[in-house]
This record gives sequence, structure tokens and C-alpha cells, in this order.
Amino acid sequence: MAEIFENVSLRNLNTFGIESRARRFTRPKTKDELIAMLQQNPAAGLEKRVLGGGSNILITGDVDALVIRYDDVSMDVVRETDEHVWLRVGGGHNWHDLVVRCIETGLAGIENLSLIPGNVGAAPIQNIGAYGVELAEVFDSLEAVELSGGEVHAFSSEECGFGYRDSIFKNREKGRYLITDVVLRLNRKPDFRLDYGDIRSTLDAMGVEKLTIGAVSEAVCRIRRSKLPDPARLGNAGSYFKNPVITEKEFEKLRGKYPVMPGYPSGAGKVKIPAGWLIEKAGWKGRRIGETGTHEKQALVIVNYGMATGQEILDYSAGIAAEVESKFGITLTPEVNIW
Ligand code: FAD
Ligand code: NAP
Repeated sequence: MAEIFENVSLRNLNTFGIESRARRFTRPKTKDELIAMLQQNPAAGLEKRVLGGGSNILITGDVDALVIRYDDVSMDVVRETDEHVWLRVGGGHNWHDLVVRCIETGLAGIENLSLIPGNVGAAPIQNIGAYGVELAEVFDSLEAVELSGGEVHAFSSEECGFGYRDSIFKNREKGRYLITDVVLRLNRKPDFRLDYGDIRSTLDAMGVEKLTIGAVSEAVCRIRRSKLPDPARLGNAGSYFKNPVITEKEFEKLRGKYPVMPGYPSGAGKVKIPAGWLIEKAGWKGRRIGETGTHEKQALVIVNYGMATGQEILDYSAGIAAEVESKFGITLTPEVNIW
């Protein structure tokens, strides 16, 4: 059974780099180890929390729980046709390493999701997305273990209730399961998505003559590196808030006042507004208060200059949300999971 440690520092296990201590901490490597640990219940009465790569959490104090970091990095092909390959991947596998592996073996579908930090088991939680692609498009199914008793459950795509940066695991079923395996249905023939942002111009600048999934991945990596802070150098958890989605009517009204406000059709009479634009116009881009700030190139990313506490970052984010609300009448909600 996986060893359980006490009073463990989480500083190097969250990309904000916040110091915090977990009362108990364990790293099972297999589903059997995880289930045995949950059923023998050595931490009875203690809340159980799942930690992946720690790239989408803000820890606001010590964690009075058993923190479980699932380390299964296995990967195997479960089915193949002329068009698709179904790959089962352990929840502890690093997401970007999986992308690289798929590119090396000619499997398309996740190249636009290059360089997203974190682990495969967390990818369905907010249906990770970037550069016009989201996980749901290649997702087949997942298996998850119920934290309360170790029971294994299977979920189809429909059952996961994927939405924009959302799934049942982020709301209705939050904290109930540990996702142990994800099955992706990847494509042998690429369906290139190049219309988002600077992908085409970056491919041109790279001098790409023959389009490949590797070239698209490289273009996405270059754009990301040029705009986003590397958590290894400057603590952050990516986009702090979700992009708000409002009605077309509300959008038109705001456009009357702010004619250059960007908005993207989001289905069913809704429009998605880039939260980074709202934050910038509210005057917070590049602002710094003590050890916390908003990144100079992307206002949606809150950064830890080194010694910020989780509470300071939370207070800073509340300041942003209050000013955006008062200026635009739009409520920002965190994308980051607050612990
Ligand atoms: P963690 O931060 O460890 O956990 C996030 C939440 O999921 C927590 O509530 C945790 O309890 C839960 N959880 C984690 N693993 C499991 C599991 N196996 N089973 C059940 N629950 C689990 N996100 C995007 O969608 N698109 C992007 O382009 C993107 N870019 C980013 C860029 C940077 C620089 C950073 C720092 C973050 C970015 N993110 C992005 C956010 C983040 O990387 C993703 O949400 C990622 O999927 C989080 O994975 P993780 O393993 O780090 O999860
Ligand atoms: P960006 O390209 O500057 O765009 C700003 C925002 O506008 C994005 O949030 C994006 O929404 C939206 N947008 C831009 N072009 C769009 C289009 N053609 N159609 C629909 N929506 C469009 O954003 P960025 O900060 O550099 O990030 C680039 C991509 O990486 C985005 O997809 C973003 O979601 C992703 N990313 C996510 C995180 C995270 O933590 N979640 C962190 C960094 C980057 P979408 O976000 O819906 O795409």
C-alpha cells in the first residue's frame, strides 16, 4: 500500500509556488494501490483531496486533509481502426508529454493543446481547451474511483457533462472522485485547426512548407512561450478567471458604450468576452500589490512574485473582480480551484 506521509510541504507541488502544508500526503502508483488505501482507510475521518500537477489550484492555507497525488503514468492502445486509435492513459501522466508522444507516433487531435501544464487525470475536470480545440473533441471515456469507498465508476463523454471549461467534476460531483484513466480517440488523419489567433502567421514565420501536427504543436508552443509566464520562473496558475459568457443583448448594450469590446459567438444567443480584456480596461494589466500582480502580457494571469500567500492572491483577485463588476456589470468567476 502507498506510504502516507505527515505534514508535507506543497510548495513545489503547485505552480503558484505557495507554501502550505498537507496534514497527510500519499502517492499511489496504481488503481489497486489507491483502492486498497481508500478501503483500509488509514486516514479515517480526514477529508481526501486530489492533487495533479497543481497548475489550476490556489492554496489559501494549510490543508487539513489527506492529499492524494495519483502517479499512474501507464499508457496503452485499447482499440484501432483505419481512422482512429483509442489510447488509455493513466491519470498521473503529464499532459504535454502525452501530446509529444502522440505527435511522435502520428496521432492527431491534441496538437493545439500543446504545453498545457498538469496531468491527464485533471484534463476532463475543466475540459481543457486552447487555440480553438477542447478535450471533449477527442475524449472517449474515463474511469474514476470514488474517494469515499474506493468504488470504480466508468463515465462516457455525455455523462461527464462537458461544457466550456467545465464538467460535472468541477461542479455537481466536485471532490467526489479521483480520475484514474482517460481514454482518448485520436485521429490517424489530421484535421488542422489553424484559424485561431496567431497560428497561421507563426507557421509562416517558421517557414513551414508541409503542414504537420508537429509543426502546429511547435507553433502553439512558440506563441505560448512568447505570451505566458513560465511557472518555473514566475508562479501562476494560467487564466485565473473564466471568460464570462453573456447574452447577445447584454453584449450589444455594452458595445454601445465600449465599441471595441471583443466578443466571440458562444452558441444559443450567447457571447464570450475575453476576461483579460475586461481586466486590462479596468486598469489591472501589469499592476502589482506587494508580492502579487497581474502579468504584463496577459491580464488574465495573476502571478506570485515569490513570497505571496494564497490569501493575498485571493484578496488581489477579489479587487480585480470588484472593479470589473463595477465598470462593466459583469461578474468574473475563478477558473482556478480554490483550496
Ligand atoms: P491540479 O491543479 O492539480 O488540480 C485541478 C483540480 O482538479 C483540483 O480541484 C483537483 O482536486 C482536481 N484534480 C486533479 N487531478 C484529478 C484527478 N486525477 N481526479 C480528480 N480530480 C482531480 N488550462 C486550460 O484549459 N487551457 C490552457 O491553455 C491552460 N494553460 C495553462 C497555462 C499555464 C501557464 C498554467 C499554469 C495553467 C494553464 N491551464 C490551462 C490550467 C491547467 O494547466 C489545467 O486546468 C490542467 O488540466 C490542470 O491540471 P493539474 O494536473 O495541474 O490539476
Ligand atoms: P488570446 O489569444 O489573447 O485570446 C484572448 C481570449 O479571446 C481567449 O481567452 C480566447 O478564448 C478568446 N479568443 C481569441 N480568439 C478566439 C477565436 N478565434 N474564437 C473564440 N475565442 C477566441 O488568449 P491567450 O491568453 O493568449 O490564450 C491562448 C489560448 O490558450 C486560449 O485558447 C486560452 O484559453 C488558452 N490558455 C488557457 C489558460 C488557462 O489557464 N485556462 C492559460 C493560458 C492560455 P478561449 O480561452 O475560449 O480560447
